[in-house]
Amino acid sequence: MTVGMIETLVALQAIDTRHRGLLRQIDEHEAELATLRTEIGMRQQELETMRVAVAGIATKRRELEALTQDEERRLKDRRMRIDRIRNDRELDAAQREIDGLKDALSRHEEELIAVMEQSETSEASIVIAAGECTAREGELAAVDERCTLVVRTLRADLETDRLEREQLATRIEADQLRRYETLRQRGEGLAVVEMRGGCCVGCRMRLPHQLANEIMAGGGPIACCPRCNRIVFHRDDGESTATSA
Ligand SMILES: [Zn+2]
Repeated sequence: MTVGMIETLVALQAIDTRHRGLLRQIDEHEAELATLRTEIGMRQQELETMRVAVAGIATKRRELEALTQDEERRLKDRRMRIDRIRNDRELDAAQREIDGLKDALSRHEEELIAVMEQSETSEASIVIAAGECTAREGELAAVDERCTLVVRTLRADLETDRLEREQLATRIEADQLRRYETLRQRGEGLAVVEMRGGCCVGCRMRLPHQLANEIMAGGGPIACCPRCNRIVFHRDDGESTATSA
């Protein structure tokens, strides 16, 4: 009776350990996807900011182009008119206006050259950033496809395990099952451990002689380690899955 119960508990524990591993794998895949999505979101935002900046530069460029064209036109007009002026005072004023226009024009032309350079640099950066974005999106699609497939398989495994666990659980007495659950929630999750060399594998404590003998003999009530409280059992063949987390 006890031996059967122990075997069932060990089988249950194997499923629960596997369950935890599967959940962790699912989490890892989903975290990987989330990280990639966040990164792409940030890159897209950067790209959008760059596009807004480039649009601003283009507006500035058009303004400067219009301004310099207007100044050129006015300068040409003033230069034609100055030839017809005979009055010294008017000549002085016209010359000052021409000088002012020339200054403004040369200043605006310099600004325009700077803006054009800026525009070229920014557009080149956008091409690079957009390329990177597209590459990352392609990568995301591949990772998404792979993760979705893996997670689907993992979830199917979880479901298979769930059904098997339900079956096993019906074969365990309610208070033993409760005890098992409580023990699982503590420490490293192992509730059922082997006795090896007279020691509890869970906490390495040497078990009292009498208890060790009872465990060795089997057939008695379920035995617990006095220190870690885990259910301890003996397996004749030595190797056991109960010790692997
Ligand atoms: Zn122990």
